[in-house]
Amino acid sequence: MALNFKRVLLKISGEALKGNSDEIYDKEKLENTARQVIELSREGLQIGVVVGGGNIWRGKLAGTLELQRIDADYMGMFATIMNALAFEATIKKMGFEKVKVYSSLEIRTVTSSYNYRHAREKLEEGYIVIFAGGTGFSYFTTDTGACIRGIEIQADALLMAKNGTKGVYDSDPNTNKDAKFLESLTFHDLVVKRLQVMDSTAASLARDGKLEIVVFDMNGKDNIKKIAHGDLEATYIK
Ligand code: UDP
Repeated sequence: MALNFKRVLLKISGEALKGNSDEIYDKEKLENTARQVIELSREGLQIGVVVGGGNIWRGKLAGTLELQRIDADYMGMFATIMNALAFEATIKKMGFEKVKVYSSLEIRTVTSSYNYRHAREKLEEGYIVIFAGGTGFSYFTTDTGACIRGIEIQADALLMAKNGTKGVYDSDPNTNKDAKFLESLTFHDLVVKRLQVMDSTAASLARDGKLEIVVFDMNGKDNIKKIAHGDLEATYIK
């Protein structure tokens, strides 16, 4: 089956690298995700990846330790850099060398400073490009970072990977057994209805940048590959 896109931005939450384990990382999850991204790259898909940091730290934990929100947010951004390095190392360990990490925050010893022109060039050269550090600003999320990077690299779509939810419903399927699955939505729906796809800043950006979003369940052996081939039930937001 042919690829459904030429260039995508895949957003993976930190939790997706953790699986159900108590550890920060689940080796199987890391490797299964890396394997699919490598296989898609080998098929010719230009693929950028934004990783979250929620498996390690979230800014909203600031309150419990009586830290300032801003410091806690930077800690969260550092967590995304740790995840990006773990993902890069896993990709390399699996024998794929064409992978590059750009960070919004300067950590010159192990990452490259973000530059959208360089990132586009690397994608065209067949590199898997990992974007770390979210937006580089406190009070934002990696979902917002993913929308910005998706727009800047001119991705055909932002593939929003969820953990165990096949897409968007009109209400919470965990509490409402009659919740209706939504196959397609408009940007207007995304921004106006509270659909829990992403935070409102990210949603507004996606709408303004006309960035198509595909919300899908990444759990499953080949779900990332399936969504890239348009072969998985999901919610499409245009
Ligand atoms: N964060 C931030 N600015 C950003 C991206 C992330 O301050 O641009 C911080 C924020 O505290 C957030 C944490 O990093 O809670 C981890 O990111 P996020 O919660 O988006 O990760 P995910 O839920 O996708 O794993």
